[in-house]
Amino acid sequence: MDHSATTPVDPKVVEAMVPYFSEKFGNASSLHSFGREAFEAVQESRRKVAELIGASPEEVIFTGGGTESDNLAVVGSARKMKQKGRDHVIASRIEHPAVLEACRSLEGEGFEVTYLEVDKDGLVSPEDVRRAITEKTALVTVMHANNEIGTIEPIEEIGEITAERGVVFHTDAVQSAGKIPVDVKRMNVDMLSLSAHKIYGPKGVGALYVRKGTPLQPLIHGGGHERGFRSGTENVAGIVGMGKSAELARARLEEDSKRLTALRDELIERVLQGVSESYLNGHATKRLPNNAHFRFSGIEGESLILELDEKGVAASTGSACSSKKLEPSHVLMAIGLNEVEAHGSLRLTLGHENTEEDVEYVVECLEEAVGKLRSISPMWNKGA
Ligand SMILES: *Cc1c(COP(=O)(O)O)cnc(C)c1O
Repeated sequence: MDHSATTPVDPKVVEAMVPYFSEKFGNASSLHSFGREAFEAVQESRRKVAELIGASPEEVIFTGGGTESDNLAVVGSARKMKQKGRDHVIASRIEHPAVLEACRSLEGEGFEVTYLEVDKDGLVSPEDVRRAITEKTALVTVMHANNEIGTIEPIEEIGEITAERGVVFHTDAVQSAGKIPVDVKRMNVDMLSLSAHKIYGPKGVGALYVRKGTPLQPLIHGGGHERGFRSGTENVAGIVGMGKSAELARARLEEDSKRLTALRDELIERVLQGVSESYLNGHATKRLPNNAHFRFSGIEGESLILELDEKGVAASTGSACSSKKLEPSHVLMAIGLNEVEAHGSLRLTLGHENTEEDVEYVVECLEEAVGKLRSISPMWNKGA
């Protein structure tokens, strides 16, 4: 129930990757047949990733994961635009740390960053984007779907505005790709980040879509791989795995999203009914098919996770990337929760292996765990 943190590698993906470790181990840049074999495999994966997002293969750059894709997009394009006198960046408050921390580092380089507020459901307003754009704006970055609360942002509308104003637009689609349709043309984006391990592929490999002509400079310098945007010998096996996972995700998307949406809705309904003083965080309908995010009065999310873990249920409070810090989630604060409410939240994210029985079991475990934690909570008992 924590598929937004990561997913198991699909056996078909493993099978596709295995030959590229020792049998077909060539360096994709070598001119001999071993190299050409690896190069062809990389190109085949590029086509598959491009197909998942409606791009041309030449517009796909392989990276070391979603974090790197976000950093390359945000820092690489902002630095390039600074040469044209543009030093202003616009980002939403609820971006993944890979984008937010990249923005912070740009502030250290003298950029000004506008952080857009979101509403109580986590939605960015396209009109706010329009108002924030100035003649100095280099880049707008707004994620497609939020990794904590699952809210899906109005990317198409924002993309129309940025296109009209001639501002580069990046979106982090790490959580949305493979779950809902992603089409770079319809969304009007110039850059889009992907990660393999969120779609049943291997960890440590990702991709960045870069529309032809987008101003961008590399962060990693070297032999000029990936059209010069990401030097370093290609992670051939990982890239093959990402290509296979993209191919499978595309083939399964419709059926998967239907099945997961039904499971998710059942989970949400049963938890809200079964657990008193429980609330849903995030948008009721504009949300990822696999995301359920709750808030329970009188509960510490961290304690709830440990209780669930004892019963074999993996859940999370927010993002795996920041949950080891004890600060309240920046996303939950941005949607207007107070610190206590933010700490009383729990994310359940469904995936391929989850069944209706799983949902039933989790609801049972949750009712029990919440009851137990409340019974020993002095705060809850005083309040009640
Ligand atoms: C997981 C995630 C990332 C980071 O991707 P990695 O491949 O783990 O580096 C970036 N953005 C979002 C929205 C994510 O969920």
